[in-house]
Amino acid sequence: MLAEGRKTFGDLNCRIGCTHCQGACPRGIPVNSIMRYEYYFRAQGREKAAMADYAGLGARNAADCADCPGYCEAACPHGVPIQGKLLLAHDRLTMA
Ligand code: SF4
Ligand code: SF4
Repeated sequence: MLAEGRKTFGDLNCRIGCTHCQGACPRGIPVNSIMRYEYYFRAQGREKAAMADYAGLGARNAADCADCPGYCEAACPHGVPIQGKLLLAHDRLTMA
């Protein structure tokens, strides 16, 4: 079952603990931290803490990822569609 799940969903999940894409971002965006905060929000129900953590990134957030060619995505060895996930995370974690 685990192997099947990995085959089906593996490309969708950021490994979080890994930092392979980190050096590829010219803006120094902490991709794995943002994915971790999004996990806190979505899977652990810790919305306020996740949003506070994300706000703590200041200008190193994912607000401008839409205008980027997606260097991090190209660098991910797991094929995670990270650019879209970052934009979704930004919407979810940004305080109104
Ligand atoms: S997007 Fe890929 S390379 Fe970057 S932290 Fe997640 S799994 Fe690792
Ligand atoms: S989409 Fe571009 S700006 Fe955003 S984290 Fe990836 S490389 Fe950095």
